[in-house]
Amino acid sequence: MLDYVELEADLDREERMIRDTAREFVADRVKPDVGEWFEDGEFPRELIGEMGELGFYAPNLEGYGSPGVSETAYGLLMQELEAGDSGVRSMASVQGALVMYPIHAFGSEAQKERWLPALGEGEAVGCFGLTEPDHGSNPSAMETTAERDGDGWVLNGSKTWITNAPIADVAVVWAKDASSEGRPVRGFLVDTETDGVTTNHIDGKLSMRASVTGEISLQNARVPEDAVLPDVTGMKGPLSCLTQARFGIAWGAVGAARDCFESAREYATDRDQFGGPIARFQLQQDKLAEMATEITTSQLLAYRLAELKERGDLRPQQVSMAKRNNVRMARDQARVAREMLGGNGITRDYPPMRHLANMETVYTYEGTHDIHSLILGEDLTGIAAFD
Ligand code: FAD
Repeated sequence: MLDYVELEADLDREERMIRDTAREFVADRVKPDVGEWFEDGEFPRELIGEMGELGFYAPNLEGYGSPGVSETAYGLLMQELEAGDSGVRSMASVQGALVMYPIHAFGSEAQKERWLPALGEGEAVGCFGLTEPDHGSNPSAMETTAERDGDGWVLNGSKTWITNAPIADVAVVWAKDASSEGRPVRGFLVDTETDGVTTNHIDGKLSMRASVTGEISLQNARVPEDAVLPDVTGMKGPLSCLTQARFGIAWGAVGAARDCFESAREYATDRDQFGGPIARFQLQQDKLAEMATEITTSQLLAYRLAELKERGDLRPQQVSMAKRNNVRMARDQARVAREMLGGNGITRDYPPMRHLANMETVYTYEGTHDIHSLILGEDLTGIAAFD
């Protein structure tokens, strides 16, 4: 497995163990069938519990059943899962960084006890509802509202492009508190069985097919007073979750690119043309050299993010830089790997085309490439190009 500057030589015992557990899981449980799941447009439900048993959901959190592993260990986990498929990493990212994290960071004691162990074990599935049909890159303009009504809240609005919405037990829904001055954004833990809550499956995706995506419709959905996350108000709530998930994506994208590299390297040494392996041609060697270099530099960025996160110094803008760079790198390198596999490269029998298709989603979700450019632009110039 490509680790050109021997970053893995410095891993501690726990980090190695987590990397190996995830790598083995991907080799045994994902790789053999993922092409079929992708073609069928499904995420196998039995994996949800298995991933929970293996501790793949937010192991970097501390308490309520989570061991509090290092940020490097968490990053390696994301890297290995995405080497399998972005849909598998998305399952872990959404459950861990977008659902367990906000409950852990902003939830009441009762909410933590009710949800964290169940989500951590994969007995319950969560989803994160921020994007709306008319508000993707500008979520602060969201229209979903929560209004106080007696001893509860009434939610109205719709969310779309929500990973796992159709299979979720609980949705973290971000809505404007219409009963308070300034209509601040609040987070709600919404039981998806609540009257007035419906989740529809989104069909027709040509990317991220081994992942369930849906809408959440809220029509006078009444939730109890204690459904609100008590310890956060404003866009800081959803944005801090996105920083967690983007950190995982910066690592995960490296895994997808590495898988593309490994399959291109193997193919190039096996495939004979003009009387010998195509790997002997300088044009093909240049592609492999470029791919290995790009993967290695992205990996270095991911490792550095983990160090900064570990000591509490990581800034969201640094995460934007890594998400933006590493996903673009994976998208570009998946295309090169696909090309090296010739006609075989367009089939589901080899991973590059599937990773390439997935990267179109990863490039767009969790802040599009453009939006991260603007975040960096503002950080570098002090001038905001958007609100
Ligand atoms: P838009 O915001 O309409 O953007 C369209 C284009 O305009 C993009 O290229 C964008 O970069 C560009 N653009 C927008 N604003 C600017 C600007 N100011 N300057 C320059 N260019 C700009 N959301 C969730 O809440 N939860 C989920 O679990 C989730 N899962 C997803 C799963 C999948 C498979 C997909 C595809 C999306 C998911 N999303 C989820 C939604 C995702 O985060 C949004 O699609 C993303 O934020 C972009 O929003 P949009 O699609 O509305 O595009």
